[in-house]
Amino acid sequence: ADDQSQRDLTDGFHLLIDALKLNGVETIYNVPGIPITDLGRYAQAQGLRVLSFRHEQHAGYAAAAAGFLTKKPGVCMTVSAPGFLNGLTALAHATTNCWPMILISGSSEREIVDLQRGDYEEMDQLAIARPHAKAAYRILHAEDIGLGVARAIRAALTGRPGGVYLDVPGALLGQVMDAAEGAQSLIKVVDPNPASVPSPEAIDRAVEVLTQAKKPLIIIGKGAAYAQADDKVRELVETLGFPYLPMSMAKGLLPDTHPQCASAARSLVLKESDCVFLIGARLNWLLSHGQGPGWGEKGGKKFVQIDIEPTEMDSNQQIDAPLIGDIGSVASALLEKMGGDWKQPDESWTGKVREKVQGNIEKMAPRLKNNNSPMDYQGSLGVIKDLIAENPDVVLVNEGANALDQCRSIVDIHKPRKRLDVGTWGIMGVGMGSAVAAAVETGNQVLAVEGDSAFGFCGMEVETICRYNLPVCIVIMNNNGIYRGDGENWGGGSDPSTTVFVKGSRYDMMMEAFGGVGVTVDNPDALRQAVKEAFKSRKPTLINAVIAEGAGKESGNIGNLNPSSVVAQK
Ligand code: ADP
Ligand code: MG
Repeated sequence: ADDQSQRDLTDGFHLLIDALKLNGVETIYNVPGIPITDLGRYAQAQGLRVLSFRHEQHAGYAAAAAGFLTKKPGVCMTVSAPGFLNGLTALAHATTNCWPMILISGSSEREIVDLQRGDYEEMDQLAIARPHAKAAYRILHAEDIGLGVARAIRAALTGRPGGVYLDVPGALLGQVMDAAEGAQSLIKVVDPNPASVPSPEAIDRAVEVLTQAKKPLIIIGKGAAYAQADDKVRELVETLGFPYLPMSMAKGLLPDTHPQCASAARSLVLKESDCVFLIGARLNWLLSHGQGPGWGEKGGKKFVQIDIEPTEMDSNQQIDAPLIGDIGSVASALLEKMGGDWKQPDESWTGKVREKVQGNIEKMAPRLKNNNSPMDYQGSLGVIKDLIAENPDVVLVNEGANALDQCRSIVDIHKPRKRLDVGTWGIMGVGMGSAVAAAVETGNQVLAVEGDSAFGFCGMEVETICRYNLPVCIVIMNNNGIYRGDGENWGGGSDPSTTVFVKGSRYDMMMEAFGGVGVTVDNPDALRQAVKEAFKSRKPTLINAVIAEGAGKESGNIGNLNPSSVVAQK
């Protein structure tokens, strides 16, 4: 082809990149390989930030976390079959958590795949993705790329957000078409996050129920954090004057030190409240489905719920006043209806809750100051609590069993969307992907508090963190094992127990292998010093924090979910 005809043509690679850029995508979380290696290179050449990971699952977790943090779809790109399946775990995780994400996977030749003739990485990826995604599309023709990307973006964002799969056969990328026609075929999605305004009747009904409540409680979920209506949510909570419980990733939407925060009196408020107002939180397993002894007398509560998804209502309990809409619009409408003379609940309730909160915080305080070596969870996390209070813009990433449960309850969060964790599935291995996304999307320092087991699912990504020189400090709560490090082989053989690791592992040396800073600490003072140093230098740092082997408990706070055998000999 001569120069003139080259200039007038575009191809699938460039149309896909142009379509993403036209819709404001700036970053791709990627693992290169056939057939998308050049797609990543061209995207980089066209000014996108393309971060390559060592394994697709972590690129996917990064995209999912980016979706939560930015209210725009996080984009992950993978190769066909095995790479696609690795990325699919993250896409399902994003969908489960109601976060917008797009998984773009290269795929093998349709004609061969569909006749099952045995292609390189043969797999009908579209069919496999569909049940795990909010939507799934395949693009077969270059002139449909604009449409496919637009459909993916709108599906990911509109209504309840979720993960969208976009299948890109390798042959599509090489297809050529006229450049001007190609440019015209692209679609810029208009208003992908439309306001969803509740009906006046729904607002009247909700205000009526809230007015009747004597012992009301608010539960704020990560949907409220995602909605980015921070000021409105705060105004609503403070005007209502109810005690509130933040779900783990809603921590910081109002500071955990807020006088209405009832986290330290969780059992009391769940049991004794007579009206629960859910704001972007589901009554799923994380809230015992709104039933059981922890929830007090059966039928003793009214429920009010804000959710963008109509079918979320009554999924576990009767919702007396459903409020369908986006949290910002619903909060505004409620505040308007409540007017200036809202009567806050009686001090006999709020005072009782506050007293319980203060009592429990005082009881905990000395344990957070203990200087044990090796450390326990309280002594080490007491240090992390102080450091986050001093540095409230740090994004805290947290996963593990005890490392998760203890950190969630001990470490206060002071600003919105500053905590990323295992989400709705309680998934292990999200830590490094989340840490990369947090650093890339916010530019802030990141602190990842990781159980040694959780870290094992994603530890190779420390190389990624070093390669992009990200301000990520990882603290491994190293108790030599899963739950605890002191388990024994129930069969008495010479193999270690199924739940223990090499004793005294030096995870810090993994970080040093890639040029980051590695430190081992076995007492709270040294931990404080090492984290401070990491925050100051902003260098990739891994602190191997030695925790007593027997410090944890089986499955952390959710041991009750383990089935138990009645016939076992052991
Ligand atoms: P948590 O685990 O913190 O309780 P969930 O993930 O269970 O939070 O619930 C989040 C809820 O928020 C989901 O039901 C989702 O539909 C809803 N949601 C997400 N974004 C919005 C929004 N902008 N407005 C209203 N509800 C939303
Ligand atoms: Mg452990």
